[in-house]
Amino acid sequence: MRYVVVGLHAAGRSACQWLRKASPAAEIIGVDPSPLPVYSRPLISYVLAGEMAPPGMGVADDDFWNRLGVSVLADKAVGLEAGHGRLLLKSGQELAYDRLLLACGARPRPVETAGDAAGEVCFFRGRRDLDKVLARVRPGGTAAVLGGGLVGFKLTMGLLKRGMQVTLIVTSPRPLSLNVDAYVGQWVGERLQNTPGVTLLTSTSVTSIDTGTDKPLRLALDSGAALDVDLVAAGKGVLPNTGWLADSGLECDYGVLADAFLRSSDERVYVAGDLAQAPDIVHGDRRTNAVWPVAVEQGRVAALNMAGLRAEYAGSLAMNAIPVFGSRMISVGLVNPSLTRGCDFVDVGTPRGSYLKLVFREERLVGAVGLDAPPRLGELAFAVKRGLRRRDIPAGWLANVQNAAPLAAPGGALVGNARFG
Ligand SMILES: Cc1cc2nc3c(=O)[nH]c(=O)nc-3n(C[C@H](O)[C@H](O)[C@H](O)COP(=O)(O)OP(=O)(O)OC[C@H]3O[C@@H](n4cnc5c(N)ncnc54)[C@H](O)[C@@H]3O)c2cc1C
Repeated sequence: MRYVVVGLHAAGRSACQWLRKASPAAEIIGVDPSPLPVYSRPLISYVLAGEMAPPGMGVADDDFWNRLGVSVLADKAVGLEAGHGRLLLKSGQELAYDRLLLACGARPRPVETAGDAAGEVCFFRGRRDLDKVLARVRPGGTAAVLGGGLVGFKLTMGLLKRGMQVTLIVTSPRPLSLNVDAYVGQWVGERLQNTPGVTLLTSTSVTSIDTGTDKPLRLALDSGAALDVDLVAAGKGVLPNTGWLADSGLECDYGVLADAFLRSSDERVYVAGDLAQAPDIVHGDRRTNAVWPVAVEQGRVAALNMAGLRAEYAGSLAMNAIPVFGSRMISVGLVNPSLTRGCDFVDVGTPRGSYLKLVFREERLVGAVGLDAPPRLGELAFAVKRGLRRRDIPAGWLANVQNAAPLAAPGGALVGNARFG
């Protein structure tokens, strides 16, 4: 049996480990243009912030693939003839396979308004992006960060720690609008506004980016203002790497469509990670949830199915936990206000305590967002997966946490006890 795994990061690496467990004697070939050393992508934001040295990103030594018995080809997949079981590589090599896993992730969403200055815009996806950003960092210099999601937020805080003056430009009315509820988004926005060195521009778009005269780059904003900066970095979401699969015969939508066994429309081809548009627990449709634990779990499930061990995928779930201004911010499942219409909420918070919002749909937990709240991310994710009922909320979740970030009660509504409805 020959397994070929395209992409050796979170999903691909997890899959290789499970393939090896399930098929000790099988041939496993991994294809990735940048396979060594094995590192963790999320950690690039810690290196940018100066909180970690680059070697700290490593999660395995250079002998990792050897020990696992995976032959690694430092090559790029450029075409797939799924009907013939053939993968085409950039080097010209053709690889036949019995089972193929596509785990080639996603790339940053491009900045359409960059025009001729596009090459100067930095992204923040991997080690090369980190190097490009660091090469442009100047203590006392100015930076514009485009995009108010988690990557934009991490870029802003990292550049600030490197001594730059940062303007964060967000098209939504508040940062993290897709990741948390309106209350926590507002809270983060207020703290950003009050952070020396940060300017937050909400409901603002960049209309063009050009090379500048006073500074390397000049941004024109839809407000009519112009901004001269040393560095532009964009974190405006990602797009699955599906381009090279256009003629593959696989069914693609936003990502590569996968069934409940993470099998694509071709029975020999499986998908996992940021590339996979797979069943989602709370939405009930197929979508991508581009987070590390989802990629790792999908890699596991896909590998077991590739090895002939029937493993049904429970479905993916958006989840995040990040430190924000000294507080622990967590979010799971449905929390984006535009997606929670018709849901019921349980809010808990105190003026000097923690905040937790639990989102219920038809009495079942479908999402949660918290600041220094008692439940851990894993507990909340597990509760959403098993459809926790409102009457079964663990009492400990509703307790206040001492020394948590102070919260101003929104509209005076949150004053310490659970509010239902
Ligand atoms: C700055 C940053 C911070 C993040 N923070 C968090 C976090 O805190 N928590 C969290 O859960 N998630 C976080 N994420 C998201 C997480 O890193 C991704 O969800 C995860 O890396 C997805 O894994 P993947 O294996 O599907 O894809 P990727 O990590 O994108 O890996 C894909 C691999 O495929 C290879 N590849 C691409 N195209 C080809 C091709 N044609 N042929 C061969 N190989 C190819 C690439 O070289 C790469 O090695 C963060 C991401 C970033 C960028």
